[in-house]
Amino acid sequence: MTPSLVQAAYLVAALLFVLSLAGLSRHETARRGNVLGIAGMTIALAATIWLAAARASDPGLTLALIAAAMLVGAGVGLWRARSVEMTGMPQLIALLHSFVGVAAVLIAYNAYLSRGPLSGSEETLHLVEVFLGSLIGAVTFTGSVVAALKLSARIPANPVLLPHRHLLNLLALVASAALLVWFVLSHDLLPLLLMTVIALAFGWHLVASIGGGDMPIVVSMLNSYSGWAAAAAGFLLGNDLLIITGALVGSSGAILSYLMCQGMNRSFISVIAGGFGSEGKTFEGDHDYGDYRESTAAEVAALLRNARSVVITPGYGMAVARAQHPVADLSARLRACGTDVRFGIHPVAGRLPGHMNVLLAEARVPYDIVLGLDEINDDFSQTDVVLVIGANDTVNPAAVDEPGSPIAGMPVLQVWKAHDVVVLKRSMASGYAGVQNPLFFRDNTRMLFGDAKDAVEAVVRLL
Ligand code: NDP
Repeated sequence: MTPSLVQAAYLVAALLFVLSLAGLSRHETARRGNVLGIAGMTIALAATIWLAAARASDPGLTLALIAAAMLVGAGVGLWRARSVEMTGMPQLIALLHSFVGVAAVLIAYNAYLSRGPLSGSEETLHLVEVFLGSLIGAVTFTGSVVAALKLSARIPANPVLLPHRHLLNLLALVASAALLVWFVLSHDLLPLLLMTVIALAFGWHLVASIGGGDMPIVVSMLNSYSGWAAAAAGFLLGNDLLIITGALVGSSGAILSYLMCQGMNRSFISVIAGGFGSEGKTFEGDHDYGDYRESTAAEVAALLRNARSVVITPGYGMAVARAQHPVADLSARLRACGTDVRFGIHPVAGRLPGHMNVLLAEARVPYDIVLGLDEINDDFSQTDVVLVIGANDTVNPAAVDEPGSPIAGMPVLQVWKAHDVVVLKRSMASGYAGVQNPLFFRDNTRMLFGDAKDAVEAVVRLL
């Protein structure tokens, strides 16, 4: 393979990545999208390994080292991919973003320490690339680690509100700009090291100061950062494919963050700037909403038997309980009896964008009865029964009724407008945002306590 053949292989891989993204944007073509992505990555890896061996003084040793690293990486990757629960995916993804961040920092330092003789302007450009590569990488690294810890509930999801937090962020940016000038003028390691420490703290603070309800946007934002970090590494390594791939990930992550901000009625700039402009509301937790009504599987089965229209709104609890198959079974049985059954999916239900859609697709629920928030929200007032299966924040009326709530302004599924609402969960515990849900205390709501899978199976048996 000649270097121009490598470039051609990179071009083909880049095209496959674009086609893969296009495929992944729809249920029906997602599998094809995955296959195209895998094909692109295989071509990219083969060409890169060949190039590395061709350039090495000892190709045998280089290939052996790459093979050893790949064996370890692939071994760990395969083990994690097989063992991870669907509910553990968000924190795993956040952790993988942190690897991209740390790799970008290491590549930048390596490029700085091993740089050969360069002309004046080339050297300045190289130093700016090194600086920006490690800046973006360091922010991505600590930001992703904090996100992974928050998502796995190892640290509280509440925002950490340091005094003068916005000023601190601004100072970090100004200091980094000053250090860049120092670095370019002096070529010293010290300003690079100082900036890396600041960037690590900045990344930590940026994500720590964002509240639980806004975490979905942060996850997609870090996805975007990891793309830009990879693109920066691509510039340093002179690898066009890495630049293209990084830019694809960076811009698709940015578009997703923007769409999620629109879906959750949050300001894009505010979330990127670590909650800038939000008052960082936290839950006081002392509101008394009165009593709730407990129900039984038999009562719910009777309610469903008499219903003409049913909407199921699943949430994170359905994923935890792995209740998607009994839920699909329940909907199929009701539909067979002539009941109009649809699913209402909130854009941030679960812990991943599209989490619920993936689970329902896995359980073979027909796509045409799975509707988004905007498509279903006006229909709740004409719905006989809503089954809320392990959802909480995404059906919380406090987002509409309580301006002081941490989730105020977030569009929610207005399930309380239905004639009857049944909430399936294990206890009265709050959801991810840590906010109590007044829905549970409404007159038309009944609570069916227990694991969602067991509860749905019990209802199906009684039907
Ligand atoms: P929530 O996290 O608000 O609530 C889930 C509910 O499920 C809990 O209240 C819990 O109550 C219940 N539950 C847990 N396990 C079970 C079980 N085995 N059986 C039955 N119920 C169970 O879920 P939503 O999907 O409504 O909202 C998602 C939240 O996650 C939002 O705040 C969103 O911002 C956030 N988020 C979303 C991301 C995304 O990309 N989609 C990423 C990061 C965060 P109990 O313990 O009483 O059973």
